[in-house]
This record gives sequence, structure tokens and C-alpha cells, in this order.
Amino acid sequence: MTPSWDGGDDGMSAQQPLSAVVVAHPDDEALWLSSVVASVKRIVFGFGDVWDKPQRSEARRKAVAALPLRGIVNLAIGESGVKWQSYLAKPQLTPWGVQILEPAVRERYQSNHAQLLEGLRPALAGCTDVYTHNPWGEYGHAEHIQVYSAVTALQEELGFTVWFSNYVGPRNWIFVRGLAQRLNWAQRRVVKPDIVTARALMRVYRHHGAWTWNSGHRWPAQEIMYSQPPTSSADALHLLSGEWLLDVGRLRWWPAPWRSPWRRLSHPEEALGTTV
Ligand SMILES: [Zn+2]
Repeated sequence: MTPSWDGGDDGMSAQQPLSAVVVAHPDDEALWLSSVVASVKRIVFGFGDVWDKPQRSEARRKAVAALPLRGIVNLAIGESGVKWQSYLAKPQLTPWGVQILEPAVRERYQSNHAQLLEGLRPALAGCTDVYTHNPWGEYGHAEHIQVYSAVTALQEELGFTVWFSNYVGPRNWIFVRGLAQRLNWAQRRVVKPDIVTARALMRVYRHHGAWTWNSGHRWPAQEIMYSQPPTSSADALHLLSGEWLLDVGRLRWWPAPWRSPWRRLSHPEEALGTTV
């Protein structure tokens, strides 16, 4: 399969910083990375066909073709069919994403990791900054985690800085609180989601029946982006523990009353109750 390139100027001039968004599924860019989606030079979609769902696959193809975005690179790798809900609470992280128990699914899932590397290597060559899923796959989606794994596997070779946003789910919160004790970031940026662009994208997906998230999603006023530079960077690193995440389970227009979506990852010593 050959990645489709769109957008003419690919921004490869020597001085111009080149940035990219890499997401697993079409519509993830609108949900989790809208603050940068209109300004990056490339938007890479990892997966195309929905496992065993030809109609939804066709709907997604039509939606991607109709997106008002420039620089789309659609790798269109077939989804693995992983039942990610089974793995979100206590995922075992592996070099290709998460440990999958069913042998046939595991084989497809691991093969997808290799295909992601093959497709992402040329797509991200020359990039200085790559925005992608966070290490816990937002609400715990195993294919989001896999895309983060594939992007970071290429980081040292290609030399870019990885950025991710701070969304989390209600059901993987405890896992993320533990993971945060060994995750580092270098820069933190408080940004505004581009809600106008995100809603325009959502309308295209919904028109084609390819929107995979709930229809009452409420984008927050602010979100946070964290950077992970390559190891050659001299930037000081900070622990993710103590930081604030956005709980997607609370980002809904209904039912009211809303609870704040902001939840703080307690420090390890706080979690143990040894400090006030
Ligand atoms: Zn997704």
C-alpha cells in the first residue's frame, strides 16, 4: 500500500520547522489534538478499515476524502480488531503497544506495529515536532498506545520532539497514576482546543457515519500539551506525577450537572499518604 500524499508544499525547506500530527484513527485528530491540527504540515492517519465492518470502513474512507485538512497522509492500515476495552484498566505495555492475549488478534496487532513503522518513517522524516497520542492512549485504546509506541520508536532515528495532550479516561485513571511515576516531560504548554476546526471535522465524520465518539462531546476551554525530546536534548525533565489531566468521561454536554474534568495525578508520596 502506498501512502497518499496531499497538500503540495510539504514544507521540506531547510529552515522551516516541520511538524506533524499522527493519530490512530480518523477523528482522533479532532478530539485529542485539535489545538495543532490546523497548523501542522502533515496529518497522518494510521488505521483505515474497521475490522470486520465493511460499511464503517467505507464510511471512514469517504469521510477522510472529504476532510477540509491539508497534508493528509493516510496509511490506511487495517485495524487489528483488538477488543481494547478488555485491556484498558491494566495494560501490559510492550515495545509494540500492549500485550494482547488472543493469538490471532495479537498477530495482526504486532504486524500493524511493523506497518506503522514502515509508513511513519518516510512521513515523519525531517519533522522537528510530532504530536500524537499519549503513552496511555487517552481513555486506554490499545491502538492509540500502539501509535505512540511506533512514533517514539522512530524518535531517536529521526530526531523529533514528541508532544501529547493530557486526556485520560475514567477507567484507566489508576493505571495512568502509576505510569505517571515513571513518565517524564520537558515542556508543558497550556493551549486552547481549536473548537471551530474540531466541530467542522466532526460534522464531516458524522455526515458520513464515521464519527466514533459520543455525539455530546464537550471540548474543554484549555488542554495541556507535554513534550518528550530526544535523549540528545539538554532539556531538564519533570515527572508527570502531580500534573493535571482531563477526564474524557466528564467532557459531555449531558447529563448535567457537570463535574470538573480536571483531575490531578497525585505524587507517589501523596498516594501513600506520607505527606499533607
Ligand atoms: Zn482512535
